[in-house]
Amino acid sequence: MIWILLGPPGSGKGTQAKRIQSEKGIPQLSTGDMLRSAIQAGTELGRKAKSLMDQGSLVPDEVVVGLIKERTLLPDCKPGFILDGFPRTIPQAEALDRLFQETGRTIDRAVLFQMDDSELVARLSGRRTCVKCGSMFHIYSQPTQKEGICDKCGAQVVQRDDDQIEVIQKRLKVYHSQTEPLVGYYEAKGKLARINASQTPSKVEASLKQLI
Ligand code: AMP
Repeated sequence: MIWILLGPPGSGKGTQAKRIQSEKGIPQLSTGDMLRSAIQAGTELGRKAKSLMDQGSLVPDEVVVGLIKERTLLPDCKPGFILDGFPRTIPQAEALDRLFQETGRTIDRAVLFQMDDSELVARLSGRRTCVKCGSMFHIYSQPTQKEGICDKCGAQVVQRDDDQIEVIQKRLKVYHSQTEPLVGYYEAKGKLARINASQTPSKVEASLKQLI
């Protein structure tokens, strides 16, 4: 099973990818998480990516394509995987198609998480993320039990630099101009499914299960 979760930042792709991962036992491949790990590890790639990410811009296609190429060759990806936040541009989607042609794999579905910009801004600006385990919370809809402390691992919970309001606006602009064209790309291939991402996470999960 190879699925692409497509949709704007804050639409819940990561949450749902993690749920599918634990239920189906296939890994969630998030290029955003891979880049954040590189930043934390202080690698050269991380240093280069950080300034682009902090501004809400995309990291160059060849960088993320390289990360995905390497990752999908690991043994845990054999039964399938869920792509979360990749591809994000038409050239990335084309590179993925070429990679799959070479490795004899096919995409089963691209699922579009649909949500209005105003709701995305509210979600992202209140979002708080654990520095250690990456768990996500929200100051209003899902606060931590102890302020600033992750319920799951006890580490610090912070606002991501790219969840500041000006950066959110930029990320949405980038989404509409560079990522949204992928909707037509996968629709033309007969792979696209749409879900209403404004529902509760459990309802979104149920909608996804119907597609599996
Ligand atoms: P995310 O956690 O998916 O919202 O990604 C956070 C940031 O990482 C994005 O705003 C981009 O700067 C960068 N990023 C993640 N995935 C990609 C991608 N597929 N292509 C380019 N940049 C990416």
